[in-house]
Amino acid sequence: MKMICNTPILGFAAFSGTGKTTLLEQLIPLLTSAGLKLGVLKHAHHNFDIDQEGKDSYRLRKAGATQMYISSRYRNAMITETPDEEATFEHLLMQFKHDELDLILIEGFKSQSFPKIELRREALQNPWMHPNDENIIAVATDIALDCSLPKFEINDLDAIAEFISTRVKSGDLAGKKQSEDSVAACCDTLSPAFLSVEQGIERILDAVSEIEGEIRVEVDHALKDILAEDVVSNINVPQHTNSAMDGFAIRDEDVSLERFKLVAEVMAGQNYPHPLQLGEAVKIMTGAPVPSNGTTVVMREQSDTFSEAGIDFVTFNGATIKAGQNVRSAGEDLAKGQSVFEKGCKIGPAEMGMIASLGINQCLVKRKLKVAIFSTGDEVQHPSQSQKENCIYDSNRYSLIGLLTQLNCEILDLGILEDDHHQIEKAVSEAAQNADLVLTTGGVSVGDADYIKDVLEQNGNIDFWRINMRPGRPLAFGKIGETPFFGLPGNPVATMVSFINFVEPAIRKMQGEEEWKPTKLRALASESLRSRHGRTEFTRGVYSLNEQGQLVVRSTGKQGSGILRSMSEANCLIEIEPLYAKVEQGELVTIIPLTV
Ligand code: AMP
Ligand code: MG
Repeated sequence: MKMICNTPILGFAAFSGTGKTTLLEQLIPLLTSAGLKLGVLKHAHHNFDIDQEGKDSYRLRKAGATQMYISSRYRNAMITETPDEEATFEHLLMQFKHDELDLILIEGFKSQSFPKIELRREALQNPWMHPNDENIIAVATDIALDCSLPKFEINDLDAIAEFISTRVKSGDLAGKKQSEDSVAACCDTLSPAFLSVEQGIERILDAVSEIEGEIRVEVDHALKDILAEDVVSNINVPQHTNSAMDGFAIRDEDVSLERFKLVAEVMAGQNYPHPLQLGEAVKIMTGAPVPSNGTTVVMREQSDTFSEAGIDFVTFNGATIKAGQNVRSAGEDLAKGQSVFEKGCKIGPAEMGMIASLGINQCLVKRKLKVAIFSTGDEVQHPSQSQKENCIYDSNRYSLIGLLTQLNCEILDLGILEDDHHQIEKAVSEAAQNADLVLTTGGVSVGDADYIKDVLEQNGNIDFWRINMRPGRPLAFGKIGETPFFGLPGNPVATMVSFINFVEPAIRKMQGEEEWKPTKLRALASESLRSRHGRTEFTRGVYSLNEQGQLVVRSTGKQGSGILRSMSEANCLIEIEPLYAKVEQGELVTIIPLTV
C-alpha cells in the first residue's frame, strides 16, 4: 500500500479579517448538497484542546495516554499527542479515509503548496496574492479585477460552490501551472506540487524518449555503449572441435581399450591431419584441434606413458572414460550465422570479449548522450579560487560529472552561473540547443531568490515539484524547447540522491536501454532507522554479509542533506517507504546498491 493522498485538496488564501471561516461555513452546506463528501483539515497555532476537562477521556489522556481513541454511536475521535514535533502536512492528509471523501478543504497551512482560491475584500486594503502565488486557481473578491483566473463576487457563494464542485467532479482540477495531465482527480493533479517518488519517475519517463543517432566505434572503446545493430557471427566459435584439457585424444569407439599407441603430439595452433587408426592416440594440448575422428580426450593426470620396442604407448589405468568427453565442439559457443547480440544490447566486458572473439573489431552503437550541466548561486565558488567570505565551493558539478561519467554520457560543463537573469537565460537556451539533456543544481526550493526559477518559468515548460522524499524534496522538471531539463536541489546529498532516483532512469531511457530498473535488494536493518510517515526516506547505508550469510545494512550516521561524507561512506541507499515512520532493528528494508 502506498501512502499517497488521492483526494483533491483546496484551500483559501486570505489575510485575516476576510471572513474565511464564515465563508467556509456557508460554502460547506452548498458543496455537500451538490453531492460532495467533504473533509476539512485545519491548522491551529495555539495549544488547542478539543476534549473537556473532567471527562473520562480527558483524564485518561492527561494521565499519560499519547493516543486516545473515543467512540460513540455518532462519532469517533482520535486525539494524538505530538510532543516531539508537529506532524507534517502530508502526514496529516494521510489520516483521512480517502475512499470516503471527494474533497478535503484546508484551513491554514499557508506555506504549503496546494490549490487555493484567493479571497480579498476591498475594505481591508490588503495586497493581491495571486500574482506571486502559482497555487491560486481562482479569485473571489468585491473589487473589479482584470486577471486571467476565474473570478467570483466574494458573496456569490453559489457560483463559488458551483466552480469547486464542477472542478472536483470533472476531474479537471488543473491549477494555473497544470499541464495536460488527465490523471484521475487527486491532490497530485490538483496541485502539481506534491508527488511521490514513483509519480515523479513515471512522469519523467513519460516525457523523455530515446535519442536518435549512431556511430561506429572500436570494440575496445565500446564499454557501456548500446548496440545500434545486431551482431551476427560469421564464423564458428570455436572454429574446430578442440581439446578442453591437456591429455590424449582417442577414437570414441576405443574407450575400453587397455593401451594406446602414441602417434603424434599436437600443440595449440597445430593439428593432426590423419584419421586415427584402431588403438591410436595423440598427445594434445588444451585448445588444440582434435583429430577428425579422435573426439574423446583423457586428461594427462589419468595417464601413464611407457615404451616397448622403441614404440611409445599410453595407458589410462582403468579410468572410466566416456566417449566424447573433454572436447569443445566447433561452433559450441557461437555458431556461424547466429545472431549473437541484438540491437539495444548494452556492451559490458563480456560482450567486448565476445564481439572480439568473432573477429569483429568495430561495431555500430548509439551515439553518446550529451548532457549540459551547470551550478547556480552567487555563494557558489569554483574550487580553484581562494575562498571568499560566506561562500562555498561548488561540489555538485563534480559529483554530477562523476555520476554522468559512470553513465557513459558526454558532458558539456558550463560551470557556475552567476545570479544574473540575462546570463542564465542565455546559458540555459544555448545548453538546450546544444545538448540532449540539461541539468542544473540549486535554486529550485520554495522561496528561493535565485534567478534560475524566473528564467525557467519564462523560457520553458517546467514544473516545480515537491517530492515526498528526503533528502531531495524540491525538483524542477520539464522541457526547454524539446530538451528535457532537470533542476536538482542544491544540497549536495540531495543533488546526488535526486540524480539517482530521477535523472538516471531518464538517461538510461534516452540512451536506449529499455525498461531499466534500479537493482533493489532486501537487507536486515542492524540498527533502528529514522524516517517519517508519508515520505520516502533515502538513508545512506553500508550493507554487508553477516556471519550467518545474511545481507545486513546500517546507516552511515549523520544524515544531513549537506553532509556529503554520508554519501562517500555509503555503498547503498536505504529506501524507507512512506508507509513507515520508523524501522526497528532486525526489520527488513529495501536497499539500492550504489554503483562503484
Ligand atoms: P538552493 O537549492 O539553491 O537553495 O541550495 C541549497 C543549499 O545547497 C545551499 O546551502 C547552497 O549553498 C548549497 N548549494 C547550492 N549549489 C551548490 C553547489 N553547486 N555545490 C555545493 N553546494 C551547493
Ligand atoms: Mg541557491
